[in-house]
Amino acid sequence: MRADKKIKVAICGGGIAGLCLLYGLLKHDHLDVTLYEASPEVAGDEGAGVVLSPNAIRALRSIAQELVTAAENADSVFVSDPMATAVMGREPGFGNKILDLRSKTGERGFLFQRSKFIQQLFKLVPPSACKTSHKLASIARQDDGTLDLSFTDGTTTSVDVVIGGDGVHSTVRKHVLEDFPDQIEPFFSKQYFYVTMAPMEKAKEKMRDWFPKLPIQYAWCGDQGFLMHDPANSGETLQVLAAVRTDETWGSDQWTKEKSLEQMRKDLEPFRELGKACGDLVAEQGGPLQARSVWEHPRASTYNRGHAAILGDAAHAMQPWQAAGAGQAIEDAMVLTTLFSQISQPQDISAALETYSSVRVARTHYAQDMSAENGDITMNVGKFKGLDAAQLKEAFELRWEELWYFDLEKHRQDALGEFERLKGGR
Ligand SMILES: Cc1cc2nc3c(=O)[nH]c(=O)nc-3n(C[C@H](O)[C@H](O)[C@H](O)COP(=O)(O)OP(=O)(O)OC[C@H]3O[C@@H](n4cnc5c(N)ncnc54)[C@H](O)[C@@H]3O)c2cc1C
Repeated sequence: MRADKKIKVAICGGGIAGLCLLYGLLKHDHLDVTLYEASPEVAGDEGAGVVLSPNAIRALRSIAQELVTAAENADSVFVSDPMATAVMGREPGFGNKILDLRSKTGERGFLFQRSKFIQQLFKLVPPSACKTSHKLASIARQDDGTLDLSFTDGTTTSVDVVIGGDGVHSTVRKHVLEDFPDQIEPFFSKQYFYVTMAPMEKAKEKMRDWFPKLPIQYAWCGDQGFLMHDPANSGETLQVLAAVRTDETWGSDQWTKEKSLEQMRKDLEPFRELGKACGDLVAEQGGPLQARSVWEHPRASTYNRGHAAILGDAAHAMQPWQAAGAGQAIEDAMVLTTLFSQISQPQDISAALETYSSVRVARTHYAQDMSAENGDITMNVGKFKGLDAAQLKEAFELRWEELWYFDLEKHRQDALGEFERLKGGR
């Protein structure tokens, strides 16, 4: 173990997960924390629009009010009553509302472009705490429990703890799940999607009667696909996203695939005039049309091994159709922040990370399962095939209860109790 007093923590990955954790840990003087990001900038790719759900906002607040302010400042659009609406995108009843998703507690949800939030989070942390252009290549465990990290540029560092927020193709995940090789690699969810951020005026012009009445998320439930649109960037843009089920094979490193305009039009055809308008908006991006693939992780047995742990998409990448991934990443960061505030000596690290894993695995597996099921429901697939509007309403109605209204304060207290128990048993 290191001789100096501070516990040296490396966070790999400067996405929502890594940055929220960094901010939480920087508050504690007994920790010496550095974030390593592979890209030359901590800026997030343009990314998709994201809905931050009530649980996500409560988790942010639990880490620090400044994180909620960062989300508010991400040119967010605020929604509460309703938060979103589901509409029939196939026959019978094309265009009929299935249900409005309302905030039971009156709490708001935030809609924003992911990169905007990441940029706001980055503004909160001292630049010296982030090392960009540092892509983690490997982790070697030393006999004294410390970890040697090697980066692709040839640099190395030695730390007491490494926490991977390094996304779906995580390097830290490979280390953590070494004993569970079948759980390491993500698998293709047999879906691809087209996405664009259209200027709102352009969307209005193209969508005409189909232009959304409310500035909220609309999910059109189709057959082997679905269509979604939601505002972002202070209402100045409309994200249009069309997901398609496919039997195609995509390679494990294939994030995008070029599609012809004809194929895209064909994919959106079932959504009639709305599909045509959304297709126009997608086509207006110009350049070769790229469809993006959806990957998810096999459910991992653990999120820690010794002094290494994973959070966010590195731990539990899920289909995006329940809008839960970022929320779960923030909850992970909340629990880790809580536990690391309690570590008084390096010997506590293993107990803290074991506790983190034990309290987070069940909840995040639930989010992964619900997200996959929601994909099937919205796309008329598998055991949810053939539901009519009333059955869809029933299928949707309670799907967000456990995710949104989960008692996060109890979750934190459970984690603290388990941590004390594990420390006591050492
Ligand atoms: C289309 C779509 C819509 C979505 N909608 C929602 C939604 O509405 N609500 C919601 O809650 N979630 C949503 N999500 C999910 C959400 O965006 C993700 O769960 C969340 O952003 C994951 O954040 P992360 O920080 O864990 O990972 P990432 O954002 O992937 O960040 C990982 C970071 O690690 C860096 N990195 C990678 N490898 C290394 C390495 N070896 N060393 C150092 N750094 C590395 C990367 O450059 C990146 O900066 C959606 C996702 C998609 C695809």
